[in-house]
Amino acid sequence: QTEEVSTALDKFDHDIPLAERDDIINCENVNKWFGDLHVLKDVTLHVKRGEVVCVLGPSGSGKSTFIRTLNGLEEIQQGTITIDGTSLSNEIKNIDTIRRETGMVFQQFNLFPHMTIKKNIMLSPMWVRKWAKSKVEKKAFALLERVGIPEQADKYPGQLSGGQQQRVAIARALAMEPKIMLFDEPTSALDPEMIKEVLDVMKELAKTGMTMIVVTHEMNFAQEVADRIILFDQGKIIETGTPGEMFNNPKHERTKLFLSQIL
Ligand code: ADP
Ligand code: MG
Repeated sequence: QTEEVSTALDKFDHDIPLAERDDIINCENVNKWFGDLHVLKDVTLHVKRGEVVCVLGPSGSGKSTFIRTLNGLEEIQQGTITIDGTSLSNEIKNIDTIRRETGMVFQQFNLFPHMTIKKNIMLSPMWVRKWAKSKVEKKAFALLERVGIPEQADKYPGQLSGGQQQRVAIARALAMEPKIMLFDEPTSALDPEMIKEVLDVMKELAKTGMTMIVVTHEMNFAQEVADRIILFDQGKIIETGTPGEMFNNPKHERTKLFLSQIL
């Protein structure tokens, strides 16, 4: 029973090798400008169902803008984005569908400060999904259990540590039963001693077969968990490969330089 409410997520055959699965994210030649600033330049990316992609790159290279385009938080001017078969056009119905299927976790946890942890988790499933309160409440407890803080349900965000708040933010996103989870530097605002507890939750999530795109500077996490790494620089994907390829045998000078600065 608990299993049923906590392990929501995308139903697909995990035994099919990654390479043979279909693409859940399809970005073709995406271009975006902020005024005169060309922030995304012909970005093309296909992500398989259940794939974990880590996005690396220097500050200002367009990583946040890119993952925000994937759930319609940023408009694009050219190109196409299709998420699990739904085109991210300006049609509001499509954007709603995609937002429901796509959970997002930000650097600043963005919890509602005036609501208890439990309410934070229950809000969207009740109002957006329109699921019954009893089901949603059960789910909230199961998810808090899963992220290791069931005892915090009735507290307010301000009473929790940063690491705990970020775990709540992950639980809150999962409560919507998304098919894709987007993480934008989820550990960058945390004190060092709290980083591991959040990365551990993300690792567990990856093992369940969740499709994940993770912008991060945590190289150990990328190395261990990513199926694929992409490197952004000046609005372009300049290199992509497995962790082994990227870390041991980078092709581009720019990748070598970036890795030498960060490792
Ligand atoms: P990253 O996440 O890799 O640090 P961002 O996607 O945040 O990069 O930013 C890419 C570029 O777009 C930067 O030059 C940044 O200053 C600019 N930028 C980001 N958001 C906005 C915005 N809302 N308006 C104007 N420029 C922006
Ligand atoms: Mg960013």
